[in-house]
Amino acid sequence: MFEEGNRLKEEFGADAVFDFTLGNPDLDPPEQLLARLRELTQQAPDGLHRYMQNAGWPHVRESVASHLERRTDLPFAGNHVVMTVGAGGALNTLLKAILNPGDEVIVLSPYFVEYQFYIDNHRGVMVQVPCDDTFAPDPVALRSAVTPRTRAVLINSPNNPSGRVYSHEELERTCTALSAAANEHGSPIYLITDEPYRKITYGAECPEIPQYYKDTVVVTSSSKDLGLAGERIGYLAISPEAADADELAAACTFCNRTLGFVNAPSLFQLAVADCLDVSVDVDRYRTRRDLLHEHLVGLGFEIPAPEGAFYLFPKCPIDDDTKFVRELMEERVLVVPGSGFGTPGYFRVSYAVPSDVIERSLPAWSRVAARYPQLAAT
Ligand code: PLP
Repeated sequence: MFEEGNRLKEEFGADAVFDFTLGNPDLDPPEQLLARLRELTQQAPDGLHRYMQNAGWPHVRESVASHLERRTDLPFAGNHVVMTVGAGGALNTLLKAILNPGDEVIVLSPYFVEYQFYIDNHRGVMVQVPCDDTFAPDPVALRSAVTPRTRAVLINSPNNPSGRVYSHEELERTCTALSAAANEHGSPIYLITDEPYRKITYGAECPEIPQYYKDTVVVTSSSKDLGLAGERIGYLAISPEAADADELAAACTFCNRTLGFVNAPSLFQLAVADCLDVSVDVDRYRTRRDLLHEHLVGLGFEIPAPEGAFYLFPKCPIDDDTKFVRELMEERVLVVPGSGFGTPGYFRVSYAVPSDVIERSLPAWSRVAARYPQLAAT
């Protein structure tokens, strides 16, 4: 898709191609973050540019722990927080720490495409459990997917690619099913909650997962909510109630080092520690979502509730999502087939693009939709 998109841009000019493929946030970081960066570079604290503890600056980890304690009412501790190279770095660090070769990690489809590679990196086996028709977790399917090799379940809400935010009731049912399975299992099953889009929601409440399941590890980053994807800063935080929390924190610290990350970027650890409650202007994403969502629904596309993140995940009018994506490409609209997210028959549209790109793309969407009378009938 990427190559083909570049070819089209060369042939027709970048303005004539509507590229909705990448989840690369285009909103600038908030002023509070930029001001803190200016301050840190003009009056640099001692040792700013040196190595520090592999888990990160102690006071930064304490700030993250206090932030999580306020949110969850659970006594998170600084020594159970590891600052990481984005959420991707956090997931790799954690999977390296917990997986033996052949151990299984359950993911709910649709899922973030990189999960497969991250799990492979550490010789784990990814087990897909499809969500229900509304893209909520299916507790019965989850429970029956647990085997003696299950080491972790990886969930992501707000979800990439579906935009779904799991509700209180859905999480309660899911975590009850997982706890029951874990009790029979005999050893802990970690619930990894990957939540880089937590602050990007449009009215839906995003429940705190450590309140539902004790063996939880929170993974996140500032890539999306502070618009810092290129700076590679994030963290993992082990619930104070999790099994072997001290040992797991030590293992993650070791793996953060030996995977070659060594430590998360120093300057950005310090900058984000003062912006844990701050985010980009989410209303700008909401405006784009509404514009595109309204147009596509008006054309007859079925789109499950996009309550968070910056993606729509419409159903294709035909079963073959790759074929449909190619037809969109003929109109120079670039999107990603749902098969890449473990969910054929759908496609992902990222609206982390300027509003004028969305506006200019609307006639192209209409032209493609006009080829499918079944859309007009829905
Ligand atoms: N998890 C999900 C669900 C994502 O969508 C992404 C990035 O798109 C990541 C993790 C990786 O984020 P980061 O840039 O912080 O590594």
